[in-house]
Amino acid sequence: MALTGIQIFKLLPKTNCKECGVPTCLAFAMNLASGKAELDSCPYVSDEAKEQLAEASAPPIRLVAIGKGVRAITTGGETVLHRHEKTFYSPTGIASLVNSDISESDLQDKLKIWNAFQFERVGLNLRPELVALKDAGGDKDAFARRAKQIAETSEFNLVLMTEDADVMKAGIEACQAKKPLMYAATEGNADAFGALAKENELPLAVKADSVEGLIPLTEKLTELGLKDLVIDPGSREIKQSLEDMVSMRRAALKSGNRELGFPTITFPCEMASNLDMETLIAGMHIAKYGGVVVLSDFTGESLFPLLLERLNIYTDPQRPMTVTEGIYEIGNPDENSPILITTNFALSYFIVSGEIEGSKVPSWLLIKDSEGLSVMTAWAAGKFSGDDVGVFVKKSGIEDKVKHKELIIPGYAAAIAGDVEEELPGWTITVGPREAAHIPAFLKSK
Ligand code: SF4
Repeated sequence: MALTGIQIFKLLPKTNCKECGVPTCLAFAMNLASGKAELDSCPYVSDEAKEQLAEASAPPIRLVAIGKGVRAITTGGETVLHRHEKTFYSPTGIASLVNSDISESDLQDKLKIWNAFQFERVGLNLRPELVALKDAGGDKDAFARRAKQIAETSEFNLVLMTEDADVMKAGIEACQAKKPLMYAATEGNADAFGALAKENELPLAVKADSVEGLIPLTEKLTELGLKDLVIDPGSREIKQSLEDMVSMRRAALKSGNRELGFPTITFPCEMASNLDMETLIAGMHIAKYGGVVVLSDFTGESLFPLLLERLNIYTDPQRPMTVTEGIYEIGNPDENSPILITTNFALSYFIVSGEIEGSKVPSWLLIKDSEGLSVMTAWAAGKFSGDDVGVFVKKSGIEDKVKHKELIIPGYAAAIAGDVEEELPGWTITVGPREAAHIPAFLKSK
């Protein structure tokens, strides 16, 4: 059972030295109890106290690693119910189901198509990570062959789905190096699956027929020494599934229920009869609170919106995405090419650079650090003032790359034109369009 703030306080040095970033040991203890602080932030906790505090300082939802390589994921580790309180940390893993009786060539075709679903967005590669291989008919050799094929011929990581310990063992032997997620330990096979997971050091999913049914199972597996568990309350009806996800997250975070303090796995593929509906359900579980969602297939029109939703939900709302300050070359600019400037808000950069690229007018794009704020917000907050922009242009080194002295500033920052001109004597400051969509026409007309 988690310790209260007062119980934790009794184990701290009580010197109020403030090195942990809060004024008192009591405040630190309260933060630790509510999952808002890390024990490591206090350098003076004794080893004995550390041991006692280990449970209290453990994240209320265990962080579980699945897979290896570029598509490895970690799931869980969440500390809040709502992302406006603090960010959500571990993006939902997205999986597609495949049955083990699929032919080698059909599977290869699928893997090739699925592998191609990679989307560049704000400098990130958005793609699914998992293939859920489902035992069809208990043929352990077929299961092992397909597991090996997925592991060896694709980047995808695996969820091995069977309740038969022999089939699971064969699957593990075929792809253990990929650190697959075992699905699933049930009331009937918990001992055998627990032993397999322990022996092979693999994450283990636990399935019951209700939230309450999960508790004795995770308790039992935890007593066996297993920590990396993923839970499935078995609900396959939309409303019930949502209610279960919410109640489990609340139980782990608000009631300190360690038996439910694990990431979850959900199966939209078993909750709808078509991919459109599955996609909607998956969207619901990306927002609340699926650690892994399993679809029946990947298609571009289903996957792309889910990947975008995931990107948005798992981006820290208190920390805007940024790009690095500097000079960006778009389309091999030369000494006569135009110079534009904008802020380092990632979305501003990608929209503006995309429009410049689309214009086919090679250009220099200066990106000024504005702490990730968009042009208007940065200007209003004093992070994109005329003086700052002028100083930045001077130190950026752009003058060594061009023969002209004309700077195009964003239309929304027209008010700083005079100040920039003062800071950059000899330069012409041109006010560009307000909307990025108008940049191509503007550049072509120059
Ligand atoms: Fe107390 Fe440790 Fe924080 Fe110092 S660093 S105030 S001893 S909790």
